[in-house]
Amino acid sequence: MYSPKLIIFTAPSGAGKTTIVKHLLKVRNDLAFSISACTRTQRYGEVNGMDYYFLSVSEFKKRVADGDFVEWEEVYENQFYGTLKPEVERLLNLGKNVIFDIDVRGAVNIKKYYQDHALTIFVAPPSPEVLFERLNNRKTEDEESLKKRIARAREELTYERKFDVTLINNDLETALKEAEHIVETFILEGFEGIKKHEYGNGNHQ
Ligand code: 5GP
Repeated sequence: MYSPKLIIFTAPSGAGKTTIVKHLLKVRNDLAFSISACTRTQRYGEVNGMDYYFLSVSEFKKRVADGDFVEWEEVYENQFYGTLKPEVERLLNLGKNVIFDIDVRGAVNIKKYYQDHALTIFVAPPSPEVLFERLNNRKTEDEESLKKRIARAREELTYERKFDVTLINNDLETALKEAEHIVETFILEGFEGIKKHEYGNGNHQ
């Protein structure tokens, strides 16, 4: 019987995973985005209930206490992000494959929760230097939060081997095509296909 799948994109900040996730949502109508809850300030152009469910810290903590999260993390100091159980259920009940854009720790935890129903894809920059330069050019952050993001990205790069697949984002068009192939393979053939096409990191035997 067909069972919907979970596809988790994770990466150091600035590696380009959000662009890849948005592209996949555009080209595949069997995918739906898991809208996370978070407590950071809403950025210009973001829509509450579409990009995130923006919560106050106290609302977020109440939902933690109520056991509403599959996983949650304090990604930056006093900035909480988490995947809501009812959100994932809602999308699975629609018969959709669910796609996630979450940090490396959250991805490790969500994989533990959903196990073989979930594929974790680590989007890697061509080199750490390229990543730091991209973060520098982003201009959405002030000096202080930029420093924090760079320090965090440095640590996040060390997580690569914990995930099922690595996707190197050097040339964006190539990365988008490769992402399409990986997702198609996993949806149709599961981990058998991932192995057969040699996409895997070798940590899923
Ligand atoms: P941003 O503030 O740039 O939107 O996101 C910051 C980081 O938080 C990104 O790495 C993003 O993937 C991650 N993130 C977004 N939603 C979640 C979530 O539900 N759980 C976790 N653990 N991280 C998340």
